[in-house]
Amino acid sequence: MTQATHPQLRSTAATFTGLKCKECGAEYEPKAIHVCELCFGPLEVAYDYNALRRMVSRESIQAGPHSIWRYRPFLPVETDQPIDVGTGLTPLVQAHRLARRLGLKKLWIKNDAVNMPTLSFKDRVVSVALTRARELGFSTVSCASTGNLANSTAAIAAHAGLDCCVFIPSDLEAGKVLGTLIYSPTVMAVHGNYDQVNRLCSEVANTHGWGFVNINLRPYYSEGSKTLGYEVAEQLGWQLPDHIVAPLASGSLFTKIYKGFQEFIQVGLVEDKPVRFSGAQAEGCSPIAQAYREGRDFIVPVKPNTIAKSIAIGNPADGVYAVEIAQKTNGSIESVTDAEIIEGIKLLAETEGIFTETAGGTTIAVLKKLVEAGKIDPEETTVAYITGNGLKTQEAIQGYIGEPLTIEPKLDSFERALERSRMLDRLEWQQVLV
Ligand SMILES: *Cc1c(COP(=O)(O)O)cnc(C)c1O
Ligand SMILES: [Zn+2]
Repeated sequence: MTQATHPQLRSTAATFTGLKCKECGAEYEPKAIHVCELCFGPLEVAYDYNALRRMVSRESIQAGPHSIWRYRPFLPVETDQPIDVGTGLTPLVQAHRLARRLGLKKLWIKNDAVNMPTLSFKDRVVSVALTRARELGFSTVSCASTGNLANSTAAIAAHAGLDCCVFIPSDLEAGKVLGTLIYSPTVMAVHGNYDQVNRLCSEVANTHGWGFVNINLRPYYSEGSKTLGYEVAEQLGWQLPDHIVAPLASGSLFTKIYKGFQEFIQVGLVEDKPVRFSGAQAEGCSPIAQAYREGRDFIVPVKPNTIAKSIAIGNPADGVYAVEIAQKTNGSIESVTDAEIIEGIKLLAETEGIFTETAGGTTIAVLKKLVEAGKIDPEETTVAYITGNGLKTQEAIQGYIGEPLTIEPKLDSFERALERSRMLDRLEWQQVLV
């Protein structure tokens, strides 16, 4: 049995008090553990919110670094020298043209397609996990990944000088594999889906003593996602939105945006108000959407079959908690087809100039579906979370976008090509009209 925590033994810089079981409330020391020994529930980081309330203000946050580390007191690390590669504080842009297309008035895009250093929101969770891994004395870090997590772990481990070995399903997109290999970690491509990769990694974590960011370090890792809540609140002028739409893989990101908002309310940084939480999944891997639709309080695992590989988790660890949050906030969880996901990627690109990957396409397609079903009020301040970059999943849209017009280096060749393309545009319009 693990001993109770002794906060007085740790550095005064730490505002977290230990780990706590989400199910039975049992408390543990903040080590590299993630499952409750008593009930097998997931462990979560607990904080001293009275200390935080005294310690943190809007001004102190704004005076902090231009990265997620401006929220360091809310993150589970003791050091004041975290691994800071400029992760976070990505743009929150008002999406006027997309809003008009959808029939909304106040739509914002939180754009983690340009998060640093590897262009997905995973850089947030990995920056936190590896900072904690270093504090806990790990020299080798690892992960079970659907692609983006491997990119982040390999890149940030390289920056921090940690040894790195990552595990991915062998059928990932070329851009995701290349975006890991460039940092020279050891890459294990496993013949199997993500859930099989994850099971293998649990065994390796037990036998090799490595820090797996999303297994034995998961309680610390997942706290990094709270920064997606903090930043939106700060960037909206220290206010919460009315409605958020975010993609669901394990469901962790979704539940941590919720925790982030709650914490800001609790320490008095924003005013309390109801925020509706809506989640997005791909139909080919939608165990959380199915549980929500059927009003179940348990997840039935599925075998993933979708182009949205970065969110294709068939047995989502935080699925049940995501369903609870959607229910109690009067939100929703929806799924969309691969064809709708491609349309979503194109719609965001054409209206806002943001090229997202399949997870972002899923979010935009679900946003559209929710508006059409009357589940988002046009007057609601709505934030859609775009979590990854389109350059990493190019094969998903291959054959669904136009082609360049190849011409000779001569003016008349250009003029003829331009005329041809205008004619094609007119033809397309006529087809739309009939
Ligand atoms: C991992 C991932 C998510 C969702 O992650 P959770 O497991 O639900 O926290 C969303 N979008 C992208 C691009 C991802 O890589
Ligand atoms: Zn427990």
